[in-house]
Amino acid sequence: MAREVYVDQDACIGCELCTAVAPELFRLSASSVAEVHGQIAASEAKAQEAIDGCPVGCIHWR
Ligand code: SF4
Repeated sequence: MAREVYVDQDACIGCELCTAVAPELFRLSASSVAEVHGQIAASEAKAQEAIDGCPVGCIHWR
């Protein structure tokens, strides 16, 4: 099974880097923290870019 990306919303500061890097995977929730709204296998590289760029390191694989 493909791995999935998730956001630790308790740590997210809502900087919107991930939503800019991979809008097909991430969006801001109503409470202004990032949430995953799609798991697209073809976007793994973008997910990794968001993981690497997140300033608080709160995006992870599982
Ligand atoms: S890059 Fe990290 S801190 Fe910024 S919105 Fe995304 S998950 Fe939150």
